[in-house]
Amino acid sequence: MPAEPRGDDAQRFARQLALPEIGPAGQARLRQARACIVGLGGLGSPAAFYLAAAGVGTIDLVDGDRVDCSNLQRQILYGSADLDRPKVEAAAERLRALDPGVALRLWPERLTPDNADDILAEADVVIDATDSPAAKFLIADCCHARGRPYVHGGIAAFTGQLMTVLPGRTACCRCLFDAPPPADGAPPRGPLGVVPGVIGTLQATEAIKVILGLGDLLCNRMLVFDALRLAVRTVPVRRRPSCRLCGRAPAPAP
Ligand SMILES: [Zn+2]
Repeated sequence: MPAEPRGDDAQRFARQLALPEIGPAGQARLRQARACIVGLGGLGSPAAFYLAAAGVGTIDLVDGDRVDCSNLQRQILYGSADLDRPKVEAAAERLRALDPGVALRLWPERLTPDNADDILAEADVVIDATDSPAAKFLIADCCHARGRPYVHGGIAAFTGQLMTVLPGRTACCRCLFDAPPPADGAPPRGPLGVVPGVIGTLQATEAIKVILGLGDLLCNRMLVFDALRLAVRTVPVRRRPSCRLCGRAPAPAP
């Protein structure tokens, strides 16, 4: 039986402890949980902030980049004093300032087929906060192989999207697209800074629900957020029998 939060934690998490759906048992579960955030940019910033603030005990931070001035318009973990610092270091400092009780594991590297298994294997939930299609498919494949739930997020310009995947049980990213599109070298479109703020915050919401077994997860449906119309819709996503990952006859990626 997990111990009830004491002292600082009892005060820090008083508002969540007062929720019957969470309470001391849920709070202890969050403290024992491990979340992995791949990408510490516009999506990963709010996701990391809210997971640390909620009391998730161990957070893996994965990003090989350094803070650039053009990041500050949306990557709210960082300030002007952090320019040129490795993102994992600046992020860790900010999150420890928020809650010294959070255990952080820093991976100052890009996710690759060589390191993905080490990084993702022990996560209770993975947040795909990357901006590269290849990394998104790598997360999907590795999480499927290890049975790790993950929360997909993506943004472009004024729109964002989100879907939660329970590997082998719900539709996966390869049910939607068989393979990542070829890189076209086009410059990134935006985004408006609040768009990844909204989507990253929703990814953290889903991750907390995964850890706590709470509510209805955003599975088998994709949420699409349109900032210009301030509209949110969900689109059904079905498991595809021919999916190379979770279909009837799995096949290696080309
Ligand atoms: Zn699939």
